Amino acid sequence: MAFAEPAPTQGDLHFRVFGIPVRVSPFFWLTTVILQVGFGRKLSPPELLIWIAVVFVSILVHELGHALLQRTFGGRPWIVLHGFGGLSICPDCDRRAGRQILISLAGPAAGFLAALVALTVVKASGHAVGWSSSGIVPDDVIPMSLIGGELYWQPLRSLNANLVLYNILYVNIFWGLVNLLPVYPLDGGRVARELCTLGNARRGIVLSLQLSIATASLVAAYVLVEWREIYLALLFCYLAYLNFQTLQAYQRNAW
Ligand SMILES: [Zn+2]
Repeated sequence: MAFAEPAPTQGDLHFRVFGIPVRVSPFFWLTTVILQVGFGRKLSPPELLIWIAVVFVSILVHELGHALLQRTFGGRPWIVLHGFGGLSICPDCDRRAGRQILISLAGPAAGFLAALVALTVVKASGHAVGWSSSGIVPDDVIPMSLIGGELYWQPLRSLNANLVLYNILYVNIFWGLVNLLPVYPLDGGRVARELCTLGNARRGIVLSLQLSIATASLVAAYVLVEWREIYLALLFCYLAYLNFQTLQAYQRNAW
């Protein structure tokens, strides 16, 4: 996911991964904690630490997916993890539609790959891993509902290892799928914008904003009614509002 780059603060953490500069805003840690404890969920300190570590590594992997491809295409990107997720910023990147689409898809793809690696390790350690499109799963497995069915696996011996695995799969698969929705500025919204603007750029931007508003509104209503996911519903309400505001400004100013 991506919004504008937040201003640097004294509490920022700086390091490099594969030579790519990374800056972590203090708000990144704050929102990650709020996501788990903000809605009344009770977590022990180890459970909370596992959650923070998994979110941190997973979002970093996602952004590295974007950044490594940006660098492959000749750009000099840097990564910022902030209160709404992450950004891989690359002002000198190749702006051609095909490359921008690949760059946008590389983030969720890196996450799906990380989930696949985790499941491969689980399977290699002698634990059954499976998928049920009917929703019926064997006894004594840990299930995870995804679009179109249930992913399941045989529990690992340690409770904490199970929690690490569950969080890795949830963040990398579920958030990856959410990120592919055609809502700007999510990765799927960026792909939709590139596709919409292939013909008439101005009409394409209006179309991509309208698509974002419609999709975000429907998703907000769905996740609230069907899943009772208040945070996700609020996020999509905000995204619908953001796109509505941009559309109004765009039409008023006729940029
Ligand atoms: Zn992304």
